[in-house]
Amino acid sequence: MPELKRKLAENVKRVQGRIAEACARANREPREVTLVAVTKYVGPDMIKQLVELGQRQIGESRVQELTRRAAMLAEYQQRQARDESAERVRPVRWHMVGHLQRNKVKMVLPWAHLIHSVDSLRLAEEIDSQAGKLGVATEVLLQVNTSQEPSKFGVAVAAATHLAEMIAPLPNLSLCGLMTMAPLTEDAGVIRDCFTRCRELFDEIYHEVRVGEQFRHLSMGMSHDFEIAIECGATMVRIGTALFEGLPTAVDGG
Ligand SMILES: *Cc1c(COP(=O)(O)O)cnc(C)c1O
Repeated sequence: MPELKRKLAENVKRVQGRIAEACARANREPREVTLVAVTKYVGPDMIKQLVELGQRQIGESRVQELTRRAAMLAEYQQRQARDESAERVRPVRWHMVGHLQRNKVKMVLPWAHLIHSVDSLRLAEEIDSQAGKLGVATEVLLQVNTSQEPSKFGVAVAAATHLAEMIAPLPNLSLCGLMTMAPLTEDAGVIRDCFTRCRELFDEIYHEVRVGEQFRHLSMGMSHDFEIAIECGATMVRIGTALFEGLPTAVDGG
């Protein structure tokens, strides 16, 4: 195995180990937590390597990058499927984790399997309308601003349940849970409070709004706080930095 890929494999294994340890502390099973590899810091070759190592959930924070890279990878996998007819090529699931503008919805929908960042009714309605045209039901999470920082995206905690009520009935959109980001701080207590608030909000929405059984995801936790997030009930962690430590980063054209 080439040096870079070996190093990447080590990083993936280390992160998976930390996820498993956090699960053990919280009395949870590691399979309850999905690792979404956020690839915005690395080039397309690194994504291919990740996929070859078995990683299937990939996240990007910008529409342009996500669509370009998803198209690149789809083509790569099609080529693979032709070359190695013996082994089935499992498709990648793409996660749109960053802020989404309404005018970019149409572009990202054909590629994004889960949009983590729905935070307004207008955005949800645009997704619903475009998904209807494509004949798909797009899976989304409601992003909640649990840190109450005005600079952060996400619906306010106090408005989240009402927004979920408005979004849940939209026919071409499937509300699958909540997403949040804790502030960048060394104070584990502050981080834990954010994740706990999100977990409580999740329970409240689950019981008070007709959201359905697909409402079961809590996307929270990044490289610096994913263990706390898992202890607070995260079912998806979005990790970039920790997966690519010691590997070349790239601002690329692919
Ligand atoms: C970049 C990003 C991540 C990953 O952050 P790391 O700290 O590098 O793990 C997760 N979520 C969102 C929304 C991001 O933009």
